This record gives sequence, structure tokens and C-alpha cells, in this order.
Amino acid sequence: MKKVLIIGAGGVSNVVVHKCAALPEVFGEIILASRTKSKCDKIAQDVKQRLNVEIKTEALDADNVAETVALIKKHEVDLVLNVALPYQDLAIMDACLETKVDYLDTANYEPKDEAKFEYKWQWAYQDKFKDANIMALLGSGFDPGVTNMYCAYAQKHLFDEIHYVDIVDCNGGDHGKAFATNFNPEINIREITARGRYWENGEWKSTDPLSVKQDFDFPGVGTRKMYLMYHEEMESLCQNIKGLKRIRFWMTFGEEYLTHLRVIQNLGLDRIDEVDYKGQKVVPLEFLKCMLPDPGSLAENYTGKTSIGCVIEGIKDGKKVRKFIYNICDHAETYKEVGSQAVSYTTGVPAMIGAKMILTGHWKQAGVFNMEQLDPDLFMEDLNKYGLPWQVEEWSSSVE
Ligand code: NDP
Repeated sequence: MKKVLIIGAGGVSNVVVHKCAALPEVFGEIILASRTKSKCDKIAQDVKQRLNVEIKTEALDADNVAETVALIKKHEVDLVLNVALPYQDLAIMDACLETKVDYLDTANYEPKDEAKFEYKWQWAYQDKFKDANIMALLGSGFDPGVTNMYCAYAQKHLFDEIHYVDIVDCNGGDHGKAFATNFNPEINIREITARGRYWENGEWKSTDPLSVKQDFDFPGVGTRKMYLMYHEEMESLCQNIKGLKRIRFWMTFGEEYLTHLRVIQNLGLDRIDEVDYKGQKVVPLEFLKCMLPDPGSLAENYTGKTSIGCVIEGIKDGKKVRKFIYNICDHAETYKEVGSQAVSYTTGVPAMIGAKMILTGHWKQAGVFNMEQLDPDLFMEDLNKYGLPWQVEEWSSSVE
């Protein structure tokens, strides 16, 4: 019987715990640990009510390696599924190394004092994980995660050569608030205010934040303005998709959202350095996070859909081909199923599937892996089975 330790008790965790609990033949025992134990208890209670499955809960500061090691040893877990924040990635990986337990996350490590998304810190664990004969699976959410799998699937089945990838991400939902972020506000605002970057002909090209935009017709949602951004999956995909000439990432934002963001920036509320307030050190972005709605709380009245996919262009049987692989996910439906909105759901389901792939031995290998380095077939089947069905279409128009 396999045991999993899930760390973090936010929006994504709520989905992962429900989805793992619904598969007792894979996840024989679930331990949920986070900084605030009452949040773990709330999730556990809901899982008990909906699925009649017992979840053990614990308090844990995952920045403290010794605490995580002690918890892993206490429960003799087989895998640690990290859905806390990217700041905890390395400390949790250290704890996994010390206990020789597999590791999975959904977002790459970020140092707290600098908004910088790079795999280099986690890739540096390659030899250590290999030597310990354990596996680290990085970025098993939707983007990164499912988008990497779409590319791997396209490479295996749909193309002989892939030349261009455009990842397009739209949340066409409405939560009824003037301003809120769909996942952790601190991480979200750091990401969106960063400079845009894309990879072309072997080089990274940089753009001013949100300065490059275009309209795109998202299935299930309609035409929306999407903005070029940097996103972490491009860093591994540009290495692992052979023959690639360009990869870009686009995300939609509404006017209202962008106006609020501009004001936040103009007021300096996105600053991540400490300021002095009446003798107290305050990080403005951390303070702002306390003032904004908890992303989990948006779920109840959320309407509309997310629509995320990859437009992929390349060669098949000597002909130029363009395909669009995507998923549409409905906020109200995911709320009904697990009590979460679709952004948490689209992240939590692939995290569960990634963990399943390791625990059942399908992907289990020693070392540190990005998703597209692994065989996509069973993962893609599981997406259809566990709530994120995908479609492939011939795509006539290109992303400009
Ligand atoms: P939330 O802020 O809702 O939840 C984060 C949880 O982590 C909270 O319960 C928090 O505890 C806990 N936590 C924070 N610090 C620690 C610590 N030191 N020790 C233990 N627990 C801690 O975030 P989300 O659920 O929205 O996001 C979770 C992760 O998923 C993030 O890393 C995010 O970047 C990633 N993500 C990935 C996506 C993808 O597609 N790949 C998309 C969306 C999110 P407390 O409640 O006490 O603050």
C-alpha cells in the first residue's frame, strides 16, 4: 500500500487531495501537512464527507528540512507531493534526498527575494537524485505539466518534426470580484509583472512586460486578447523538443485586471523588498496578499471556463501541419465535484496523475525529470479519465 505526503493546503491541494482520495488502490494512505493545520483539517473534513476517506493531517513548516524529514519518517511515505509554494521546493527536495523518497511539484523553485523562474536550482539535484535512486518530477500541473505532455504527445504521434509551439492560456471565467488572482497572489503577481521572454532560433528574446499582444479565438470561451509572457515550461521544452525553432507563451487578461495591476505597480504594492512601517518590516506584496481574496474562496460563485492548449506547427509525412491540442474546463462543474475553481482543478488533477505514474511504476526512474522527458501515452489517457479531457484539431490560422 503506497503512502503519499501532500504538502500545502491551498486551492490546488484541495483538488489533489480529493483526486488522490478517490483512487485508494493507488494512494493507500494520504497525509496532508501544511503551515496552518486547520486548513488541512478543513480539506480532510470535506474529503470525509464527499468520499468517506480518512486523511491524516499534520502541521509542518516545509522551510525546515528537519521537520519534513521527521514527518516523512513518522509516516513512512513513498512520495512527497509538493503543492505548497515554489519557495519550498529545494527544502522539500533536500528532505526527500535525506529520506530517499520520490518528489513531485507543480512550479519551479523561486528565490523569495528575487522574482526569477529558472530550473537551474532544481536541475542541479540531478546527480544527487540519481545516486539516491529516487525520482523528482518537476512541474506536474497544467502549465507547466499538461502543456509539456501535449508537446511530448505531438512529438510522438502527430509530427515528424516540430518547429513552432505557442502555448495559449485563457481563463474566461468570472468570479465577480473587482480584482483577485486565481492562484497564490504573491506568485501570480511576481510572474505577470516580470519581463516577457520567448525562445527563437536558439536564443532567448526579451520584451517589456505585457507589451506584445494579439487576439485569439479560444474554444469554449471566444475571442480574447492574449499577452506574451515568460513561462517556465519553455525552458525545458526548448531543450527537449527536437527541431524546435520557436516557443512562446501567451495568457489572457481582462481590462479590469490590467488596470488594477497598473495601479498596484504604480503604488509600489508589488515590491518584494522590505519597507519600514512604524518600526515594523513589511513586504508590500506579502501585505497585498493578505488584503486580496483567497483564491480558494473564489470557487463558489465562479462561472465560465478555462481554455488552455498548444498550437503546434511542424512537418508530418513531408507536409506542413498545424494542430491545436487543448482542454476546456468549467469552473462551476469543478466546484460541484471537489469544491474548487477550474484553475486549481486544472493544476491538481495532473499533479495527482503524475504521482500515480510514479507510484504505479510507469514513470519511476532515478533522477530529476521534466514532464516531456517521459512517455506521454498513459498520462494523456488519464487526463481523459480523471477530469481534463483534451482534443486535437487541425488548425488553419496561425498565431502571428
Ligand atoms: P495557495 O497559496 O492557495 O496554497 C499554498 C499552501 O502552501 C498554503 O496552504 C500555505 O500555507 C502552504 N505553505 C506556504 N508556505 C509553507 C511552508 N513553509 N510550509 C508548509 N506549507 C506552506 O497556493 P495554490 O494552491 O494556488 O498553489 C499551490 C502551488 O501550485 C504553487 O506553487 C503554485 O505556483 C502552483 N501552481 C501551478 C500551476 C500549474 O499549472 N503548474 C497553476 C497554479 C498554481 P498557509 O495557508 O499557512 O499560508
